[in-house]
Amino acid sequence: MKPLLNYIGGSFVPADSDTTLENLNPATNEVMTTIPRSSSTDVNKATVAAINAEGAWKATTLEERILWLDRIADALEAKAEQIAQLETMDTGKPISLSRRVDAARSVSNFRFFANFAREQEPMEFEAHGAINYVHRSPVGCVGLITPWNLPLYLLTWKVAPALLMGNTIVAKPSEMTPMTANLLAETLDELNFPAGVFNLVHGLGPEVGQAIVEHPNIKAISFTGGTATGRIVAATAAPMFKKLSLELGGKNATILLDDAPVDDIVDDLVRASFTNSGQVCLCGSRVLIPHSMYDEVSAKFVEGVERLKIGNPLDDDTQMGAVISLAHLEKVESYIKLGIQEGGILLTGGTKEHASVSGVHPDGAFLRPTVLGGLPHTARTATEEIFGPVVTLHAYKNEDEAIMMANCTDYGLAGSVWTADIQRGRAFAERLETGIVWVNTWLNRDLRTPFGGVKQSGVGREGGTWSMGFFSEMTNVCVKQP
Ligand code: NDP
Repeated sequence: MKPLLNYIGGSFVPADSDTTLENLNPATNEVMTTIPRSSSTDVNKATVAAINAEGAWKATTLEERILWLDRIADALEAKAEQIAQLETMDTGKPISLSRRVDAARSVSNFRFFANFAREQEPMEFEAHGAINYVHRSPVGCVGLITPWNLPLYLLTWKVAPALLMGNTIVAKPSEMTPMTANLLAETLDELNFPAGVFNLVHGLGPEVGQAIVEHPNIKAISFTGGTATGRIVAATAAPMFKKLSLELGGKNATILLDDAPVDDIVDDLVRASFTNSGQVCLCGSRVLIPHSMYDEVSAKFVEGVERLKIGNPLDDDTQMGAVISLAHLEKVESYIKLGIQEGGILLTGGTKEHASVSGVHPDGAFLRPTVLGGLPHTARTATEEIFGPVVTLHAYKNEDEAIMMANCTDYGLAGSVWTADIQRGRAFAERLETGIVWVNTWLNRDLRTPFGGVKQSGVGREGGTWSMGFFSEMTNVCVKQP
C-alpha cells in the first residue's frame, strides 16, 4: 500500500519533518503502510488552510451544505466495501462487523445530519410585543480528535455536523487506524470539495493532538477517547475558553432483573459484552445477576461466549478478530492477571488464542474472550476500564444492591437492563447514573437522541440538535416594531 499523506489545503502532503510512522495490521503484525509523523508545524499549516477557506465556506447556505452532505454520503456508500476492508485491516475487527456497523454508519452519519437539518424549524418566540429568534453562526475552525475503535464511524459523527454548521476542520485520527480517514480525504478530493475546509493531520496524540488542542485559532475541540487523555485535553483547552465536547471511557453494567428470560437473551448479553472484542465504549463489561439466577446465567453466558468464532478478521463468518495491538493485548492480559490476584475465578478464556486455530496468525493480537466470576464489585478489575474482551460477573441480592453496584464506578457512559416487565425496566433504568440505558436491547441508536456520558465518561452531548448546537454559536436576536 502506498504511504499515506496529510491532507492540507486540498493537497496530499508529507509531514514538514518528512518523517513517518508505521501502520500495522493487528491481526498479522505486518506493516501495511506508513503515515506522516506530523508536528505542530503541520497542524499550524492545516489551521492556516482552514482559516483561509473559512470565509467562502461560511458564505454557503445551509441548503448548499446539506447537498454536500448528501454527495459525501453517496460517494462513501459507493465505497462501503472498501471502507469495511480497510477498517478490518486497521483494527483487526471482523469484516461482517465493519460492513454492518462501521461502513454503514459512516454513510448514515452524513445522511442523517442532512435529513435532520432539512426538518428543523426556525427557533422563534414571541413575547412582550417583540419576536426573539435564534441565529446560528459557525464556530470557525474546529479540531476533531478520534480513537481507534470505530475510526471512520466516530470521525464522520463529528465531520458531518461540523460541515453542516459551516465550520472548517482540522482532524486527527488515531495513529493506529489512519486508513479510512485518508479514504474520506480522498473522497472529498474526488468530489472537488472546497480546498481547506477539511484538513487531516496524521501523527501521535501528544504531538499532533496536543498541538490541535493548544492552537489558539482552533475554536472548539470535539474529542472522543480515553478519560486520562480527556483530562489532558480539558486542562489545555479550558483556560483558553474553547468549546469542548468530551466523549470518554466507560465501565458499563449489563443488569439482569429476576424476571429476565435468560434463554432468549443470552446471545444479546454475549453481543453486548464482546462486540469488537469488547472495544466499543458502550460494551457491557460487568454483568450483574440476581443471586438466585447466578449459576444458571453464568453457565449459559460462558457457553455463549465459547461459541464465538475467533479467526481471520477478513473471513465472513469470523465473530471475533484481533484486538487493536499487541501492546493493548498485554494491557488486557495484565488486567486478567490482576483479576485473578484480586480473587476472581477464570470461567473461560484468559489466554492468547492458539495459532493452531484456523485463521489465527501466530503474530496477531488474538485474545480469547474472557469471563471472570467471584470478584467483589469494588475490585479494580470490576471498576477500571479494560476496553478489551474481558467481562466480570457479579451476583446481587436485591434491586437496591444492583443499583449501588452499577453506579459504583467513576464512569457513567451506558448500561443495559433486561427484564420481562418494561415498566420495571424503565424504573430501574432511570436510577442508573449513565448517559444512555437500553432496556431489553443494546446498541440500538437513534441519532436524534443526546449521546454522551456523566461522571468521568465525558462532558456534553453529541447527536441531533446537540451536535448542531456544539458546532455553532447562537445569537438571540430580539426584534420589536419601531
Ligand atoms: P486515547 O485517549 O488514547 O486516544 C484518543 C485520541 O486522542 C487519539 O487520536 C490519540 O492519538 C489522541 N491523543 C492522545 N494524546 C493526546 C493529547 N495529549 N492531546 C490530544 N489528543 C491526544 O483513546 P484510544 O484511542 O485508546 O481509544 C479508546 C478510548 O476511547 C476508550 O477509553 C474508550 O472508552 C473511549 N471511547 C469513548 C467513546 C465515547 O463515545 N464515549 C467512543 C469510543 C471510544 P494517538 O492514537 O495517536 O495516541
